[in-house]
Amino acid sequence: VGLSGLAVIAAAVVFTPWSQVLPELLLWPTLFLVVAAVAGEVKPLLIGSRAQERTLSTSAPFVLALIAVGGLGIAVVVQAVASVVDDLHQRRAWTKSLFNTAQYALSVVAGRAIYSWLAGVPIFGGPSTVSPGQIVPLVIAGACMFLVNWILVAGVISLSTGQSLQLVLRDDLRDLLVSNVVLLCVGGIAAIVADDGVGALALLGAPVIAAHLFVSASARHAYDATHDSLTGLGNRGQLHRELERGFEAADDTDTAGPSLVLFDLDHFKDINDTLGHPVGDQILRHVAGQLVAAAPDNASVHRLGGDEFAVVVRGGLLEARQMARELLASFDNAVPVGELELLVRASVGVAVAPEHGEDGETLMKNADIALYHAKLERDRISTYSPDLDVNTVERLQLLADLRTAIDKRELHVAYQPQVDLMDHRTVGVEVLVRWYHPRRGLVAPDEFVPLAENSGLIFPLTAFVLDTALGQLASWRALGYKLRLAVNLSARHLSDLGLPDQVAQAAKLHGVPLNSLVLEVTETGILSDPARADVVIRALRAMGVEISIDDYGTGNASLSYLKRLEIDELKIDRSFVCDIRSDDHDLIIVRSTIELALALGLRVVAEGIEDEPTATTLRAMGRVIGQGYHLGEPNSAEQMEARLRGEAQTAAAARQAAR
Ligand code: C2E
Ligand code: CA
Ligand code: CA
Repeated sequence: VGLSGLAVIAAAVVFTPWSQVLPELLLWPTLFLVVAAVAGEVKPLLIGSRAQERTLSTSAPFVLALIAVGGLGIAVVVQAVASVVDDLHQRRAWTKSLFNTAQYALSVVAGRAIYSWLAGVPIFGGPSTVSPGQIVPLVIAGACMFLVNWILVAGVISLSTGQSLQLVLRDDLRDLLVSNVVLLCVGGIAAIVADDGVGALALLGAPVIAAHLFVSASARHAYDATHDSLTGLGNRGQLHRELERGFEAADDTDTAGPSLVLFDLDHFKDINDTLGHPVGDQILRHVAGQLVAAAPDNASVHRLGGDEFAVVVRGGLLEARQMARELLASFDNAVPVGELELLVRASVGVAVAPEHGEDGETLMKNADIALYHAKLERDRISTYSPDLDVNTVERLQLLADLRTAIDKRELHVAYQPQVDLMDHRTVGVEVLVRWYHPRRGLVAPDEFVPLAENSGLIFPLTAFVLDTALGQLASWRALGYKLRLAVNLSARHLSDLGLPDQVAQAAKLHGVPLNSLVLEVTETGILSDPARADVVIRALRAMGVEISIDDYGTGNASLSYLKRLEIDELKIDRSFVCDIRSDDHDLIIVRSTIELALALGLRVVAEGIEDEPTATTLRAMGRVIGQGYHLGEPNSAEQMEARLRGEAQTAAAARQAAR
């Protein structure tokens, strides 16, 4: 294109009868057309988005008029000068500039050739006036000029972006047709009125400015309709179009893809709730910028709304997963929010065409299923597979049921005694949540607590457990039974800075002293957000609440680390306790843990005591509190109360006998 453009410019310059042209050039109307053509090129209309900037030059109508009024030489030279000036102004690379200049020259020559053929004027002829009868040839010539320009530019875009030519042409048609028709008509009028002097020509400025305003308003409109206003990323509609393009490109080139990678921020609602929406917005913008910066060239980033982002990649499974990993890695840097630095995490669902769907909608649905799966399983990246479907749908159903169960108060709690192994007294109870599902029957907490944790339902769930159990404790205290009440917390509570207040209010409501409450947390819970867990735990302890490390031994925290956090109790996990009589290894672990914990001044609870010999073995290791089926199964409040009454009566009888 560059070479033939240069050849055409040279030919036009050589064959133009400049002696006729130059005097004409000095006439006002021609001068006006020249200036308008250059100005239109240098100050083009801005169309398209910020990310994918396209411009539309308004020089075309004036160049078209020049083609007829001034002849080929002037039109080609003016257009070339305008184009080079603009390229210098924009500091474009010389190759780009060469292409621009050449494609303009070719379209001008095409326009003049058609015009001279249809209007019967010599192609290299000098200046002439345009009679109304020549208007049809001129408009056809103008259309030709636009057509050549359009195809050459679309061709180069198609080559550089890998999109099919047809697709680029179609997009352009939508964006440019109306404004090009307007500019074409203006060009025709300009050619005719050039003869009437510069005043008549100047009036044409108005429709050009109108076209200018019209195009930029509709461009803004189109931008707003396809982009998310908070982050500037493409929106859902844009995503679907991008997928469609991806499918067409894959068809054209016979390659894999496109792939859809969905991102959903973890616990974004908590951030919004605790830090406020402005901070939430700030984080979303930050994440958007991060994704755009980390995304490869063949990918486009979109925001689907809320905290969900989607990236379309032109490529197959390997590319998609590789990109998902890289984008996730970009989340490892904390997000600065005022004084704070927040770690934002995300889960990712991947679906790849054609394996996981042969159209955008199916791909979207399956990437969504993969994403849900990633959330539920706490995998960070999950790729769609058909068996995820069944499993995930079932669990989503369970999650929906859990929501109603909490609202309808279908949940209950059970109480399991904690017994001082030395004197067999019940010194505490652990509260365990129970769910009697209307169709499934009893659902184990191990099944629904993780679901609740991942969805945020854990907050109302814990509030319910805490409220019920504290109410129960209050009535037992009124009967004279002094017990510790142990309540399980999940990891997410430890990053909830509002938890201490909430606990204080619940205890106050039921008139229960805070030092009878033990909150059980796990090592993994603490380690998932150590800085905030530290703050929350300190606040709770400052109020008198005790902290217990549940399932001790199954996580990665060292005892010295936990001790530094200032905890009160260690619950040795039942997987160690239940085997101490058959497994020497476990025996040694349990014995040394008890020794160390007692030496550090911690209370020790051994979980999962299922028989008397285990209790006897533990008793020999020091002052240990026991919990397990052998000492008492989790039971209703009434049964627990009967047990406490029985113990009180036995104790009273023993005192009586001692007197
Ligand atoms: P966990 O905190 O370790 O609770 C003790 C679990 O061990 C209970 O299971 C209890 O029934 C069981 N257990 C008690 N004695 C024995 C024994 O001698 N042998 C054996 N094999 N098991 C025994 P459950 O009630 O099914 O609870 C399972 C887990 O669900 C709990 O483990 C806890 O992590 C979670 N969970 C239960 N209730 C709540 C709650 O209200 N909130 C939260 N966040 N988690 C809860
Ligand atoms: Ca527990
Ligand atoms: Ca436990």
